[in-house]
Parts: sequence; C-alpha cells; structure tokens
Amino acid sequence: MKLRRQDLDQIFSQAGAEYPAECCGILTATAVDAASQVHPCRNIQDELHAKDPEQYPRESRIAYFIEPQQLFQIVSTTEKSGGLVTGFYHSHIDCDTYFSEEDKERAMAWDEPAYPDAVYVVVSVYGESDVRATKAFGWDEESRDFVEVEIDIVD
Ligand SMILES: [Zn+2]
Repeated sequence: MKLRRQDLDQIFSQAGAEYPAECCGILTATAVDAASQVHPCRNIQDELHAKDPEQYPRESRIAYFIEPQQLFQIVSTTEKSGGLVTGFYHSHIDCDTYFSEEDKERAMAWDEPAYPDAVYVVVSVYGESDVRATKAFGWDEESRDFVEVEIDIVD
C-alpha cells in the first residue's frame, strides 16, 4: 500500500486532535499501485457504549467503531468509480502499536478477513501530539493471521 508522507501526517494530526479517543478512517485508491487517499471517519464507539454497555463494553479510548453510514458511503463511492479499499487506520492511545485481538475481530467477517487485501494501519499517540509509531498489518493466508507489512511512503 502506497501512502503519501503528507497523508500519513494527516492521520497523525487526526490522531492528536481526537486524543484521548481512538481515531479511525479508511484508505482508498484509484488503482492497486496508486497512492491511497485518506478518509477520516467518526469513531462512534462512545455512542454505542452509552446506548448498550453490555454489547459494547469498551469506550473510545481503547476501541473504535467507524460510523456505518460513512463506511458504506466511502466504500460504495470508491467501488462505483472503479477504485478499491486499500486499508483502514486507527490510533492507539498511550500504548504500543500492535494488532490486538479486538483489531483482528473487527477485521474479520466470521472466519475470513472482511477485506483480504486491505492493510490495517495503527498509529500510537501519547498525549495530544506525540505520535511515536506507525505499523501496518495485512492478512497472511498461509498463517491465517495478520502479520506486519511495510507501508510504501512516497512523496
Ligand atoms: Zn487497535
């Protein structure tokens, strides 16, 4: 997945601005080898938690849930115009960059990855502007798990 430096910076700014809530968004591209575009999304985890704490025990500091209407709109607009969803991103608050069990669960539709070609970018943010790490994870069919992958950062 190709990402422009300025777009990665945009994700960092969003992560800082939404701290101490996890931020989230979608990455799309017009073609497989094109640089991805960033679509910031609303994390509605707190609203879900407020409505139904039993089903959604976690708050936005440790979880994200992309607003479904936004997800639908971005994915359908992209696919209609012949583009593709290249990835998803979210931030981790005051902790390391890794792909958690919850992150894996969120990326799966039953026992298959919902977007097998998508790259999941995770950034760690400590405080309001201290983004310390970025990692990306992709589905590996052989191990049937997500493994760390490279992001191709371009100018
Ligand atoms: Zn996570």
